[in-house]
Amino acid sequence: LFVAFEGGEGSGKTTQSRLLAIWLRDQGFDVVQTREPGSTKVGMRLRAILLDAAERGLSARAEALLYAADRAEHVEKVIRPALYRGSLVISDRYVDSSLAYQGAGRALDPDDVSKVNAWATGGLVPHLTVLIDTPPEVGLTRLGGAADRIESEPLEFHERVRKEFRTLAAADPGRYLVVDGTLPPEQITRLIQDRVHEILPD
Ligand code: C5P
Ligand code: MG
Repeated sequence: LFVAFEGGEGSGKTTQSRLLAIWLRDQGFDVVQTREPGSTKVGMRLRAILLDAAERGLSARAEALLYAADRAEHVEKVIRPALYRGSLVISDRYVDSSLAYQGAGRALDPDDVSKVNAWATGGLVPHLTVLIDTPPEVGLTRLGGAADRIESEPLEFHERVRKEFRTLAAADPGRYLVVDGTLPPEQITRLIQDRVHEILPD
């Protein structure tokens, strides 16, 4: 079982994916909790480049390809082997982040971003994607000014990102859980657990 968490800056993906992993481990499941970018050796180096505020001039296409390279490595070295062993995999971000940030955010052709990522992942799609939908002004405030290269983009950029996440989720409701990121965290945790419970293996 492969579950991805998506959402904008400060939406609580990291916290909620960690809580879900703990909840599943308590039930005896073997869980691999992972994140993008940067969950492999090469991925960590790509993450350093991608988040470096000094790389502000990085071209949109190069950025999209570096995220895709990170993801290809992530899928081949971490996600597929874990799924093959029968582990549950929880990833903090996956392909939708590229469709939202590099596609909608950077205004690259969405079909191109989609094709590059289908190729990078060998077509691996999560069983469930949890979108923690948070207004950017709320999320960015939560970060308290910790601004990496993307976080310091203007609000309109983050609005486009949010809209794209919501569009992706609306197009495939069976594969998404959309939760309101402004709800109390315990309530968000509960909504996620209820949905994941329905698709757990025995
Ligand atoms: O999830 P996390 O905040 O660690 O992500 C690191 C940064 O990378 C974020 O600022 C996020 O906006 C950015 N990012 C991106 N495109 C992706 C994935 C992440 O711009 N495909
Ligand atoms: Mg961040």
